[in-house]
Amino acid sequence: MKFPMVDLHGQYLKIKDEVDAAMAAVIADSAFINGRAVTDFQQSLAQYLGCRHVVTCGNGTDALQIALLALNLQPGDEVITTPFTFVATAEAAAILGLKPVFVDVDPHTYNINVSQIEAAVTPRTRAILPVHLFGQCADMEPLLVIARRHHLFVIEDACQAIGAEYTFSDGRKCKAGTMGDIGCTSFFPSKNLGCFGDGGALFTQDDNLALCIRSIANHGSVEKYHHERLGMNSRLDTLQAAVLQVKLSHLDEYTVARQQAAMTYNRFLSDDERWQVPALSPNSTHVFHQYTLRLADGRLRADLQSRLKSAGIASAIYYPVPLHLQAAYANLDYRRGDLPAAEQLADTVLSLPMHTELSETQIAEICLSLKG
Ligand SMILES: *Cc1c(COP(=O)(O)O)cnc(C)c1O
Repeated sequence: MKFPMVDLHGQYLKIKDEVDAAMAAVIADSAFINGRAVTDFQQSLAQYLGCRHVVTCGNGTDALQIALLALNLQPGDEVITTPFTFVATAEAAAILGLKPVFVDVDPHTYNINVSQIEAAVTPRTRAILPVHLFGQCADMEPLLVIARRHHLFVIEDACQAIGAEYTFSDGRKCKAGTMGDIGCTSFFPSKNLGCFGDGGALFTQDDNLALCIRSIANHGSVEKYHHERLGMNSRLDTLQAAVLQVKLSHLDEYTVARQQAAMTYNRFLSDDERWQVPALSPNSTHVFHQYTLRLADGRLRADLQSRLKSAGIASAIYYPVPLHLQAAYANLDYRRGDLPAAEQLADTVLSLPMHTELSETQIAEICLSLKG
């Protein structure tokens, strides 16, 4: 592909000296597990987010599972979430015997439709798990009001939105993942802050929860060989932490590069009745993990994709099947038609290449091909 969805190598080359030196230092030190770079990175990220605690772990899926365990949710407890997301969001709950309850999405922002949450609350509901999809925060202020009213925990899936900022009606600004009880993120290579393998983290402002999260990620142990609860083995490698420390210092530049790429796409693609460019939420910045169009007619999608492909341009469908219609969740007894906005999006979205290395000329070429 001439224009892939992401360009990790191009991004690496620009910071090669810094990253290579950081990795060489870890190798020289050979503290591969829980080395100094891990604690340093946790502190740096906590400071960047304005959050009391950052606990790193093995990946974003583990982060979500550790969060649900730390809140002591029990089998049969219900977790309200969105059907229009990567499977890990609901999987983390289901694998623990919790019941995902899907609430439809807002067709413009693609995020959970907060006005429909309250109707899904039952006596078994224990938590709301919003996803800040494609880089834009879900509407957290009314969501937190509902959570407080019904005594529900809030776990934010911020895997796609690190660095996005939500503004409350009183003017207070919070970074994605720091507004609920626990925030989760992923450092998968293609994420906005990606490492060179797998990685993840949890964020919390609560000292006790932070202790509990640390213990769960470490076999349920605080003191070595003493285990007070069931836990997991989920760690960020020292090498990955060293890479992330370097990349964190570039994250704001990366975000600006993505936002500029999105604005350039918008310039070429808005005012075409065949699609709608991504809608901006009034109270969140957008860090454009994905640049996702909504087609007026989903039947055009295959043609558009093959036209792009023959010009050497990648495109992707995030996500082609909403979670309530996946075979793995058939036991939840949803039917097509239950969550129409999510189903409509699954049939009509199309994501274009989005990364930190896209130039204006490249975007112009992509748009020219798309327009045909
Ligand atoms: C990537 C992602 C995850 C899972 O992260 P991994 O590090 O791949 O386990 C979870 N939720 C969302 C929304 C994601 O995009």
